[in-house]
Amino acid sequence: MLLLRFGEFMLKGKNRARFEKRILRHVKEMLIPYPKVQLTKDFGRIYVELNGEPAKELLGALINVFGIASISPVKVAKSELENILEVSARFLKVIAPAPGTTFKVNARRVWKDFPHGSLEMNKLVSTPLLQGYPGLIVDMNTPQLELRVEIRQAQTYIFCENISAVGGFPLGTNGKAMLLLSGGIDSPVAGWSSMRRGLEVECIHFYSYPYTSELARQKVIDLTRVLSRYAGVIKLHLVPFTEVQTSFTGIGQDNLIITLMRRAMLRIATSLAEKEGALALVTGESLGQVASQTLPSMNVIGRATLLPLLRPLVMMDKSDIVELSKKIETYDLSILPYEDCCTLFVPKSPSTNPNLRIIDKIEATLPNYSSLLSAAVALTETLEITPYGNERPESEAGSEERMKEEWF
Ligand code: ATP
Ligand code: MG
Repeated sequence: MLLLRFGEFMLKGKNRARFEKRILRHVKEMLIPYPKVQLTKDFGRIYVELNGEPAKELLGALINVFGIASISPVKVAKSELENILEVSARFLKVIAPAPGTTFKVNARRVWKDFPHGSLEMNKLVSTPLLQGYPGLIVDMNTPQLELRVEIRQAQTYIFCENISAVGGFPLGTNGKAMLLLSGGIDSPVAGWSSMRRGLEVECIHFYSYPYTSELARQKVIDLTRVLSRYAGVIKLHLVPFTEVQTSFTGIGQDNLIITLMRRAMLRIATSLAEKEGALALVTGESLGQVASQTLPSMNVIGRATLLPLLRPLVMMDKSDIVELSKKIETYDLSILPYEDCCTLFVPKSPSTNPNLRIIDKIEATLPNYSSLLSAAVALTETLEITPYGNERPESEAGSEERMKEEWF
């Protein structure tokens, strides 16, 4: 079986039951394709009985469940000395340690009625193993192979690997945020980082048809689909941005267009957040990366919303962001060369130090500015994206809960 251990959220006393329930649900969803698997929840952990399902594949899926800190493949013995010795010997046979491997047994008697104590068990288990493998070298401090024997009342668990999993908080246990999702490398990584922190994420994408193509739109749907693998289902709001964007082009302040666009995006996103009950906005901004991400730019742009503006990547180096995007498998899509609305009408030298008073004045004098923004909100189209590619408009799809039941 696989032994799943929970992560840092274990510390949060009162919420623990809620968090554990959420994580169990997420694990169940991931295991739908493996019907023979059986789950048992214990304090701070979940046991996944494989019953013949492929261990490697399951491990690959479960390692991505938010809130799981580590996973050990374990062999199960009856909590009787004889059976423990037998299973340990079989286990070591499978591992087949090379001569010269340093080794120790680490037994832990959790069930206090078991007749042998932890220290005694170390000896009882290791002696026959060392006789069978004379090439093993005992090392009590930093052994290459540490055979752990955990004796509980119901069963004894024998394992030697402790594989790090994604960690973080169970999905959705820290509330909901709206992710501004472009087609670039950064924002999908920002979305994944937010989900890992326990946020439920809905995506918002701004497109400027016909200046941006159908392919660019499809790319964002595909990126959302990759993110949905980590969440089950994700809402994607597609906002028509052409009218808003073109309203900025005639004012003779081309170097401020990006600042104006970003502020418009935040305003629209704030309206959508209110509608959807989200309490924060998330972007893929990283300090200093481009003109709109200098500190003075962020200052002026950020003032367009009263919601907390979360920037999970703000202090990260690009190379680390790229590495993460490869790991979560959004990179290959992100580098497809379709244009983003932000690359349209972009001046040669966008301002790195926009003046808030001037920006305020321009926005105040733009004809029908607020109705342009509300029209964009009203014309927003919402899809529910799943890992399986069968998304439908929200109106046909029904509630999120029902969607989950249908798809998992
Ligand atoms: P990314 O790699 O995420 O595109 P970037 O480094 O290209 O980021 P910008 O293009 O300046 O940076 O965008 C900054 C942030 O603004 C993005 O990370 C994203 O959160 C948001 N954003 C930009 N364009 C769009 C868009 N068309 N739709 C939704 N959000 C967008
Ligand atoms: Mg971009």
